[in-house]
Amino acid sequence: MRFYLMPLLLLLFYGCNNVPREVQQRKYQVGIQPIGNVNSEQIELIQNALKDEYGFETVVLPVMAPPQRAFINVKSARYRADTLIRILRDSRPDSIGIIFGLTNKDISITKYGAKGEIKKPQSTYKDFGIFGLGFKPGTSSVVSVYRLGKGKTLRSRLKKIALHEIGHNLGLKHCPDKSCLMTDAVESIGTVDAAKETLCENCKAKIQKK
Ligand SMILES: [Zn+2]
Ligand SMILES: [Zn+2]
Repeated sequence: MRFYLMPLLLLLFYGCNNVPREVQQRKYQVGIQPIGNVNSEQIELIQNALKDEYGFETVVLPVMAPPQRAFINVKSARYRADTLIRILRDSRPDSIGIIFGLTNKDISITKYGAKGEIKKPQSTYKDFGIFGLGFKPGTSSVVSVYRLGKGKTLRSRLKKIALHEIGHNLGLKHCPDKSCLMTDAVESIGTVDAAKETLCENCKAKIQKK
């Protein structure tokens, strides 16, 4: 059951940048950026989730072709999630606070150990498939539906993972409460499935409009 062991949610530490006040105040919209063909119902689901959980208005941006610069083919055709969130960050229009990429393409990163070496076994971690990635804090994140299954299961996972990555953008860390959607997925979809579709009160309080 390799499928269930591979993915995880990850965060990147992005210097000491703070979340811009306009974003904290939800004055800016979140731009949903389809990368390649994306299901419009899935976009709508994310729009509703961001509105309900965070109070963000959203706007859907014109489709972006999957960027060749992020393409990799180590085990299979994938797009590098760290490259994608940098491309999104750099393409963000001024009127948008956070840009959120959604794709059907498989996305991956390299996982590193404590000393900065590629985590062992390298065959697993050099190109490691993930669900989503977002800067913490920062202005961009990306989620792929490739590993999320289908139907109702997919929709629930997509909602939680989108909210999780935007939570990182807003500066939220992983939460020790396993029922909170900011829990670390620790390389397992089961962790995502066990979490509720909402933040715990503690995390909620941290991202209140200021
Ligand atoms: Zn995370
Ligand atoms: Zn929490």
